[in-house]
Amino acid sequence: MILFISMILCSIICLLIDSKKGEGVSGFIVGCLLGPLGIIIALFTKGNRIKCSSCKELINQDVTKCPKCTYDVVV
Ligand SMILES: [Zn+2]
Repeated sequence: MILFISMILCSIICLLIDSKKGEGVSGFIVGCLLGPLGIIIALFTKGNRIKCSSCKELINQDVTKCPKCTYDVVV
């Protein structure tokens, strides 16, 4: 039972981390399968983000303008 609760907790944490990177569902699966290790993976993966060529900030792949410097992102 404790294992089950910790698995759910890890999944939610991974989901929260990865949803900021634009890949919420895969984070949930990784967290569910790997537990605390999944959180570490979620923290260190870049996800679907790309680097803004103007300010070098990591931004979501499906945005057309950088939220930080409003530079037009060309994908
Ligand atoms: Zn930018």
